Amino acid sequence: MASQLIDLANLERAAVETALAERGHKRFHARQIFQWIYKRGVTDISAMTDLSRGLRETLCDQFTITTPQVVSRERSSDGTEKFLLRLADGLQLESVFIPDTPSMTFCISTQVGCAMACAFCLTGKMGLVRQLTAGEIAGQVRVLAGALDMRDKKFNIVLMGMGEPLHNYDETMRALRMLNDEYGFAMSPRRMTLSTVGLLPALEKLAQEPIMPNLAISLHAPTDRLRGELVPLNKKYGVADIIAACKRFPLAKRSRITFEYVLLAGVNDTPEDARLLAKLLAGVKSKVNLIPLNAAPGIPFERPSDRVIDQFARILAERGVVVSVRKSRGRDIRAACGQLIVEGQKLSTGQRLAVALR
Ligand code: SAH
Repeated sequence: MASQLIDLANLERAAVETALAERGHKRFHARQIFQWIYKRGVTDISAMTDLSRGLRETLCDQFTITTPQVVSRERSSDGTEKFLLRLADGLQLESVFIPDTPSMTFCISTQVGCAMACAFCLTGKMGLVRQLTAGEIAGQVRVLAGALDMRDKKFNIVLMGMGEPLHNYDETMRALRMLNDEYGFAMSPRRMTLSTVGLLPALEKLAQEPIMPNLAISLHAPTDRLRGELVPLNKKYGVADIIAACKRFPLAKRSRITFEYVLLAGVNDTPEDARLLAKLLAGVKSKVNLIPLNAAPGIPFERPSDRVIDQFARILAERGVVVSVRKSRGRDIRAACGQLIVEGQKLSTGQRLAVALR
């Protein structure tokens, strides 16, 4: 029965080895299977021709390999592509390909929806629909690499799609290990960036991981008073605690923690906010990525003028902060930061309203 088949796409290689051994097969076939799945994009076990025909037949009765299906693909005028993917249970999510940043980058989701409810984020309006499995997180990378013919090319991944990765810690870490596997994509952790709103206990755990992605913190405000209004989680884990954890975070030579700061007109974009931010980050190996708001109907904020954005960046730079302004990509196809939202799934009234208002 299909429901009893084990999904190899959801297992790390060591777990594939165990599953094979438990059924009387040789462990080393896990390497071949990983190469087929990740390097060649073959997920039909009967087509894995370096396994004997008999073995393939037996494996087909015991295992399956599930892959998110591409429902649609939209290309922005700037080359950004948004993929709408359907999971095995019918739920849908979005992943984004961002070319030339200067690298090639896949923006990957870790949850369908998100529980964090940041005031300016459209995904937050959906609430958390469900956690993704490691297989579904790594599966997005397989799908994009295949669809874009990039299996043999170098690419980065940023966990900046839908969801809060540290709110789905174990599956996210398992996915990173699967992507790092030498028989799969063999991705270096330096090519992976995890962005979080600052779930402190999980952040402390991350600091101990053998495979350590680059870290980005969604800060958005220099004070608890202001951040509490924008990021509900700040009421639990405040600015000072997050900064202290960042100071303790083990960093590779020359690497820095990125602080993302969505600029909202008249809310967190004053010269005083910039000065407080520079002060806050003194002593942290950091860089600031300013993200002018991607406005959307249903989001009660506006994007500041270019003059205000420039002034904010200049104040930081004058105080020695490394700062960049994120150029929003894919806005014409609603693929930009905070714009990922999937319609037609289980949504609350408020969520449906947010979608209707777009
Ligand atoms: N939950 C994680 C991962 C999502 S990353 C996190 O918050 O870090 C998505 C980034 O886009 C975050 O920095 C988020 O704050 C930002 N973002 C959300 N909504 C946005 C919007 N409307 N305009 C610009 N950036 C937005």
